[in-house]
Amino acid sequence: MKSLGRRESVSGVAVIGGGPAGLMAAATLRQAGRAVQLFDALPTPGRKFLRAGVGGLNLTHSEPLESFLARYGAARPHLEPILRAWGPAEVRAWAQQLGFETFVGTSGRVFPSGMKASPLLRTWLKQLQETGVRFQGGWRWCGLEKSPSATDSDLLLRFDTPAGEQTLHTEAVILALGGGSWPRLGSTGRWVGILESLGIPIAPLKASNCGFDVTWSEIFKTKFDGAPLKTITATLHGHTTQGEFIITREGVEGSLIYALSAPLREEIESHGQAILLLDLAPDWSATRLTERLSRPRGSRSTSSHLEKATGLKGVKAGLLWEFLPRETFDQPEKLAAAIKALPLPLIRPRPLAEAISSAGGVRFEALTESLMLKTLPGVFCAGEMLDWEAPTGGYLLTACLSTGKWAAHGADAWLRG
Ligand SMILES: Cc1cc2nc3c(=O)[nH]c(=O)nc-3n(C[C@H](O)[C@H](O)[C@H](O)COP(=O)(O)OP(=O)(O)OC[C@H]3O[C@@H](n4cnc5c(N)ncnc54)[C@H](O)[C@@H]3O)c2cc1C
Repeated sequence: MKSLGRRESVSGVAVIGGGPAGLMAAATLRQAGRAVQLFDALPTPGRKFLRAGVGGLNLTHSEPLESFLARYGAARPHLEPILRAWGPAEVRAWAQQLGFETFVGTSGRVFPSGMKASPLLRTWLKQLQETGVRFQGGWRWCGLEKSPSATDSDLLLRFDTPAGEQTLHTEAVILALGGGSWPRLGSTGRWVGILESLGIPIAPLKASNCGFDVTWSEIFKTKFDGAPLKTITATLHGHTTQGEFIITREGVEGSLIYALSAPLREEIESHGQAILLLDLAPDWSATRLTERLSRPRGSRSTSSHLEKATGLKGVKAGLLWEFLPRETFDQPEKLAAAIKALPLPLIRPRPLAEAISSAGGVRFEALTESLMLKTLPGVFCAGEMLDWEAPTGGYLLTACLSTGKWAAHGADAWLRG
């Protein structure tokens, strides 16, 4: 790849951040005939995208668009036009155009054939290179100014590079810098300070799709660290979610918990903790459980009576012992009620660095409809660095790709004047 000199101009558009949002922005700009220079702080692009493929790259979801859009919660009004223009169906068509058929898994999630991110990313990067996108790795964007010496629309970008600080002039830039989770994959969230110093309103980055801490007893966490909880439901504010999660030394992790991470986080912020009501035996009614628990115990221990009567053992029984007073085990009705709605107190989300994704980011009020910063004409934002969150299920990648495309169209239209 050709290196830039110490002070050069990017004719066309600079895209900063080589994740899915930035790569899609670069591809779209090239299709529009724009020269594109893509920069990333890391030597190679798409590191988080690659990591996302480790357990199966969930590109999007096959549910009806109405339900799909509802997953973006409060950000839906801002994302809806963007996702309607280029959404789940287009993600699948895009993967197919790269040579990867997609398929719908049992949960409705959509994956590329082979499930992995690496072949898809390799093909995509090759296509970008062949179409003329120039990539500059190891360039960390560290500031932006309106160039005093040039025209109104001229922007000055500053980068830390292996060869020292470099500055570049450009007319338009797309920032696609990601959120703040898994910082070792490149998205450190350091851009927050840079944009705030330029007066851009940013909602604080917070952990989303993350685990939560629980104050387990030493005995419980030693015995059940890593234990999976299956066939379980969790109720928060009257809404019941089915799924699975695992016990960790710190608390709880897994898809069921991730799905509830936004309301759990908000509950903890307002009340200091969130109480999740677990149904440890969703297929049994409280009446049936009471009846079974009321049967004579004979010489059996409390634990074996519980197992014989209800089938509850291992980590599920452990949870009951962890949170219920000893005497409840001799009160069938009370014990049955606890099995159906065991309060699990969550005290804080795990740190952002461990989360799958970030909530918060550049506030939509700071952006025009085309995702350009109102106070910095020519500067567009896309991807996870925008102020939205969504559960896992392909909603994250879809919105990143889609906003990348949208911002690119915006930049192209803006340059056309
Ligand atoms: C373990 C894991 C599994 C996941 N699985 C899925 C999944 O299956 N499906 C799904 O939809 N989503 C998944 N996600 C989430 C998804 O990967 C992200 O939402 C998505 O990658 C965000 O895309 P982005 O382009 O906005 O940012 P990123 O992919 O984070 O890319 C941002 C890029 O910007 C670069 N950058 C940051 N700051 C600078 C700077 N100052 N200068 C230059 N470059 C900079 C970074 O190096 C990085 O390459 C997963 C995430 C994780 C961590």
